[in-house]
Amino acid sequence: MSFRIGYGEDIHRLRKGGRFVLGGVLISNDVSPVAHSDGDCLYHALADAILGAVGEEDIGHLFPPDDPNCEGIDSSLIVRAALLKAKDKGFTPVNVDCFVVLERPKLKPHIEAMKEKTASLLGIEKGDISIKCGTNEGLDALGEGRAVKAVAVCLMERKE
Ligand code: MG
Repeated sequence: MSFRIGYGEDIHRLRKGGRFVLGGVLISNDVSPVAHSDGDCLYHALADAILGAVGEEDIGHLFPPDDPNCEGIDSSLIVRAALLKAKDKGFTPVNVDCFVVLERPKLKPHIEAMKEKTASLLGIEKGDISIKCGTNEGLDALGEGRAVKAVAVCLMERKE
């Protein structure tokens, strides 16, 4: 049995209106990320953590921002693609720890649903998913509510 750990992070500008999906869950219709995909920065950070754990290049190589086929895609597809890359090398997820920085809307009411979605996407238990959140204390673009940021670490295991 061998283990590998990976790290990912992502940031998106926010704009008025549109759909704000985070961790696969709709959290607002008042504000949304500026993005080529659906802009789920938690799933983008997670996909990069999975890819990083198994020594693959970042998600920009799998889903180039100038690829018209990526327009508005559900970011769970990006995570699935990362999982397939890992599976090719014999690795599956063990646990995930994430942190989202967002001024508003408040994430607390959505965290359990985000954990459930993410656990089922990764094929692990909800208890193996941690999604924490905080504000940026009013500082910088994050604190002014003009951006959302997520970081993720993922432990992967290869069973011989
Ligand atoms: Mg992104």
